[in-house]
Amino acid sequence: MDIEGLSVELRNIAGTENVSADPSHRAIMGTDIFYSRTPPALVVRPRHADELPAIVAAIARQGGTIAARGGGLSYSAGYLTDRPDTVLIDTGGLTRIVEINPQDMYVHVEAGVTWSQLNDALKAKGLRTPYWGTGSGLHATVGGSASQNAVNYGSARWGFLADSIAGLKVVLGDGRVLKTGAWATNESPIPFTKHYGPDLTGLFLADSGAMGVKAEIVLQLILRPQAVRYAAFSFDRREDFAAAISDVGRADVVTECFGFDPWFLSRRVASTGFADDVKKLINVAKHEGSVVKGLKAALNIAVAGRHHLKNVGYTIHMAMDGRDDDDAERELAIVRKICSGHAGREIEPSIPRIMRSTPFPPPIMLLGPDGDRWVPMHGIVAHSRHLPALEAVDAYMNRHANVIEQHGLVWGQVSTLVGRSSVLVEVNLYFRDERPAMVERYLDRNYLESRTKYPRAPEVWAAVDKLRNGLSQVFRDLGGIHMQIGRAYPYLDSRLPENRDLLKSLKAHVDPKGVLNPGALQLGP
Ligand SMILES: Cc1cc2nc3c(=O)[nH]c(=O)nc-3n(C[C@H](O)[C@H](O)[C@H](O)COP(=O)(O)OP(=O)(O)OC[C@H]3O[C@@H](n4cnc5c(N)ncnc54)[C@H](O)[C@@H]3O)c2cc1C
Repeated sequence: MDIEGLSVELRNIAGTENVSADPSHRAIMGTDIFYSRTPPALVVRPRHADELPAIVAAIARQGGTIAARGGGLSYSAGYLTDRPDTVLIDTGGLTRIVEINPQDMYVHVEAGVTWSQLNDALKAKGLRTPYWGTGSGLHATVGGSASQNAVNYGSARWGFLADSIAGLKVVLGDGRVLKTGAWATNESPIPFTKHYGPDLTGLFLADSGAMGVKAEIVLQLILRPQAVRYAAFSFDRREDFAAAISDVGRADVVTECFGFDPWFLSRRVASTGFADDVKKLINVAKHEGSVVKGLKAALNIAVAGRHHLKNVGYTIHMAMDGRDDDDAERELAIVRKICSGHAGREIEPSIPRIMRSTPFPPPIMLLGPDGDRWVPMHGIVAHSRHLPALEAVDAYMNRHANVIEQHGLVWGQVSTLVGRSSVLVEVNLYFRDERPAMVERYLDRNYLESRTKYPRAPEVWAAVDKLRNGLSQVFRDLGGIHMQIGRAYPYLDSRLPENRDLLKSLKAHVDPKGVLNPGALQLGP
């Protein structure tokens, strides 16, 4: 690859200041939250989505390979190709909200728009997307999340982000541009739905960028809910906790539902100090609609503080959206009936209240309470496999108790409801290793100074990596699936031979020279 020649070409397309060969910048771009790999040869940051086709075509013509990066808030080596010929496309400049269409109920954005930005723009118009963002959404982008098939806000009712997407504009491996759904016509296009013939949108979702570079994305809209209720329950027995989450899911009454094991909860409280953080209480007060209601909610949290969360068992934390107060009250009544029917004790719903008041906080959970590093591993399983998954994770971690003890690792589980039929089980691992520059970039200096710094510990990192690999197999043994595939979850190997063949043929069509993120999804070398 002629780096000099390519660099000149890219500067002509994207502007001189937006092409970087600076070693320290490249080094940062060669890491994610967990992995560190060979830095890309160049980094290009387009100013508009319209520059993408020429950028991709130039890189392919010059013999380079391409990785797209959104906010960089992932931990599965999704954009880390480990090849010296990679040009990284940083989509952080593609922040245009192209159209908010309240008549046809869609919003059209460039791929680098963050969830926080999108939520703010829609809030002002009384609208929301059904799935409405990741916890990392202050920095994480709609394009990155669509490539990972994210879940979180809105997922208990609306499922995966993929379920909320109406159409895509994608740049293929040779610079061709493809649109999907109703948008893919020259006869008066309006991108209002992806359902027209075979679902080509799906081919590019959850693809870790292996099938194309997402330039623009259209999401469905809903009217912003007018009333919210919160509920939280504690359970002594894990069986009851899992049964309650599944029953709440089947009843289709909550918008978000997170379940924490007792250990994770205590760690989270220690890590974020959420109960007594004045700023958060002010946000809760502001968020609650009326000043009196807001102050009361904030006061309840302050009084309950950490105390009500001490000595609790397995807890579920929920937010319910209603069209009006009656609607939300009805949902709350159903949730109370389900949870108390499974021996749940109602507790102060501080966590969902705080989450809703500040849905996209700075990502302080990147470090544990002791300054230790954090990385999760997950599987999404059917309701019938939820409890077995929690038990299988316990059994797996018990089998590796010596490794855990040797390296001082700590871990806990979170269960997140995804639609009516599935649960995301996430194992959160904390380990003592040097915090990478990549992690420090996202955190405030004062916060960093308040946390212990540990020396580099490659053997600890390697032990965590090994545990993560084993955990991913635990979930697949239960018929589970993964989002965030990248290079951390073996995708192609686990597909049926017929599916493998089809995927390889499709990849050859959309990426004839094999330049798009080779190795992601195990496609390409
Ligand atoms: C503190 C924290 C909280 C998190 N919370 C959640 C959560 O609630 N739910 C959840 O699902 N995940 C969560 N994550 C994981 C991660 O942040 C999300 O998956 C997020 O969607 C990643 O978006 P990003 O823009 O940072 O993507 P990146 O990390 O930049 O990229 C992710 C993948 O997408 C590809 N990609 C990026 N942009 C494009 C594009 N335009 N075209 C093609 N491919 C592209 C990359 O090549 C890579 O494979 C969290 C992570 C952290 C650190």
